[in-house]
Amino acid sequence: MPDRDNAPAALNFLPYGRQEIGDCDIKAVVEALCSDWLTTGPRVAQFEQAFARFCGAAQGVAVNSGTAALHAAMRAIGVVQGDEVIVPAITFAASANAAVYEGATPVFVDVEPDTLLIDPACVAERITPNTKAIVAVDYAGQPADYDALHAIAKGKGIAVVADACHAPGATYKGRMAGTLADISCFSFHPVKHLTTCEGGMALTDDGDYAAHMRRFRNHGIDSDHRKRDAQGTFAYDMVELGYNYRLPDVQCALGLAQLERLPQWVTKRRTVAAWYDAALRDVAHVRPLRVHADRTNAYHLYVVRLDLSKLHVDRARAFAYLRHLGIGANVHYAPVYLHSFYRDRGYRPGLCPVAESRYGEILSLPMFPAMAQSDVARVVDALRALSGLR
Ligand SMILES: *Cc1c(COP(=O)(O)O)cnc(C)c1O
Repeated sequence: MPDRDNAPAALNFLPYGRQEIGDCDIKAVVEALCSDWLTTGPRVAQFEQAFARFCGAAQGVAVNSGTAALHAAMRAIGVVQGDEVIVPAITFAASANAAVYEGATPVFVDVEPDTLLIDPACVAERITPNTKAIVAVDYAGQPADYDALHAIAKGKGIAVVADACHAPGATYKGRMAGTLADISCFSFHPVKHLTTCEGGMALTDDGDYAAHMRRFRNHGIDSDHRKRDAQGTFAYDMVELGYNYRLPDVQCALGLAQLERLPQWVTKRRTVAAWYDAALRDVAHVRPLRVHADRTNAYHLYVVRLDLSKLHVDRARAFAYLRHLGIGANVHYAPVYLHSFYRDRGYRPGLCPVAESRYGEILSLPMFPAMAQSDVARVVDALRALSGLR
């Protein structure tokens, strides 16, 4: 996340997330740098197809951040001023900001108390004639309840968008993240499952959405115009206000190289999670989030809740204690509407009580593929010691 604090503050610092760059990545990037293409070239389509294939989606549209993918999704589904877009309270701000970019109003809804996933019952309560989209967030790497969300949206002209930035490789009822919504958005920030430095992708099975997002990422320029224009090949037409959200070829080369290892990284993240699960079983004041039986978690984050009734310290003290020991715990996330930008627009504390109370209890523990079991033991020892703090 852009707000992460990942710089090794001390020797032996264990960050909450860390990318892996190998010789094959460096070779791929150098090859791309020495090729004829630096920005839009052949590797863009290759990366789009390869990532879409990994997730089982028909089309991928590469953009230069996960935020840009969310913005492109909002435009493609036709979110405009006056529309309402439902967003869970606990997510990275970009999930909601994308709706604001298009002049729409985010409607924050509460989360399930034991998973922090968007709560479909809360979504159903907040649907109005102005609701245009539901943005579900696959928080920590576990898919939201998409069948329930589609059932709510069905027949009302409401699109379901997945903010799947945490979830490449996760499954819901045997189906892959990236195929669960009308459009699914991914991020390739270094702390995510695979990186292109900055980057993102929107996946969809809908050809019209894909075409619209390709145009949107390139200033709104209709690239088919050249083929249609009998007068010459130099003319092009800008049909709407788009942005420069293109992902460079050099970065797609990195993404393609990283993608080779994505399956093994997801597997390793699950192994690290299983180490945590086992080691935390006898730590009564620390509870991992629940994973629904019909889902698999891709574990972008490993999030625990502190049972504050069993401790003499609050989450802030616990966080500071872990940091003092060189353990890069983090907190994902404060309810988005508590940020100044949203408060200035009239959102108030009390809107989503479950999210607000959970926010005071959660910690994200270090989680990345290169972790050893001894790293997990070190984190769990520190968590166990919280019960002795006053
Ligand atoms: C990382 C992230 C984003 C934004 O992705 P960027 O590539 O940093 O723009 C959006 N939503 C969630 C849930 C994320 O974790």
